[in-house]
Amino acid sequence: MSAPTVEGKRKESSVFGKLAAIMLVMAFLLMLITTGFFIALVQPTLHGEISPGVAHAWLLVLSLLVMSGVVLTTQAVLQKLLRPLRVLNDGVTRLGEGELGVTVPRTTTDEFGRLTDTFNLMAGRVREMITARDRLLIDVSHELRSPLTRMKVALELMPDDVQRARLSSEVAEMERMISGLLELERLRTGRGVTLVRQDIVPILREVVATYEGRAPGVRFTADGDRQLTAQVDAEQIRSVMRNLLENAVKYSLADSRAIQVTVAAHDDGARVRVTDDGVGVPREDAERIFEPFFRVDRSRSKESGGYGLGLSICKRVMEAHGGQIALEPGNGRGCTFVLHFPRAD
Ligand code: ADP
Repeated sequence: MSAPTVEGKRKESSVFGKLAAIMLVMAFLLMLITTGFFIALVQPTLHGEISPGVAHAWLLVLSLLVMSGVVLTTQAVLQKLLRPLRVLNDGVTRLGEGELGVTVPRTTTDEFGRLTDTFNLMAGRVREMITARDRLLIDVSHELRSPLTRMKVALELMPDDVQRARLSSEVAEMERMISGLLELERLRTGRGVTLVRQDIVPILREVVATYEGRAPGVRFTADGDRQLTAQVDAEQIRSVMRNLLENAVKYSLADSRAIQVTVAAHDDGARVRVTDDGVGVPREDAERIFEPFFRVDRSRSKESGGYGLGLSICKRVMEAHGGQIALEPGNGRGCTFVLHFPRAD
């Protein structure tokens, strides 16, 4: 038997109890109204004070009024009764969208209130698990740095042959992966980004220019000659663009059209779109692609040297800017990455 808790002692009500009470009140009111009709119409009709035709018309009008009243009252009562469910649904949606800090206020002591408590408990557990996973990843990354440094020193002392070259490249890859993981953590905690109000068009143009000579080529289109001002860390945005363009080039096919980069102003800020005509990403992977170590096709990515950290870093950079990154999968071929920068007022 579980120990009694503070929650357990709280006076609790029931949705079914409330519904039963509402139905009882309605039945009582209906009874009163019917009796009222009888006194007001039937008796005078019997005594010949009003004609049956007029009594019938009155009966119709009054019944209509009563029915409308019952429907409207039921709707208002049910809306109030189900409000906690709507608030809870909003919380579940926000948690599903990755907002881990979400908690739903408990406004009732009935089953919905208990469901709200259970949801808040579950959201807290999910938060703890994700924090513990991130912590573990960071601790392991930190701990691996010292043995890696010792391995590098040991490698320097080895004879300069094929074996040493192979081991050096493996160690370099591990170092890149660890730096990526530590960078993810730095960005999550808001460090590593210094925002400055500036025009983003020259930053994008500069990065795109470095990819012009590479197949399948790249085309840049800006929204007129206007400046698109946003609060950005230029170096971090260059790195996001390099990542997207590097992937667009890497996953292009021999007959792919040139990569398109467009930037345009919208009411809520600036939007940059990077569209390629390569192998594309399956629709069901559009969200997961931004998770650390996620790769659509592990063998394909291994061949091309990636280990699935690039896009998760891009996502953290955009979040640190108060913006977003999203993937619009193409129909069969190609895909579009969309960066959104909030308005700098
Ligand atoms: P990686 O270093 O493996 O490229 P990313 O985080 O940059 O890591 O990308 C994660 C995965 O997303 C890649 O392994 C690849 O499967 C897929 N991907 C990213 N960009 C594209 C693209 N433009 N076209 C097709 N697949 C892509």
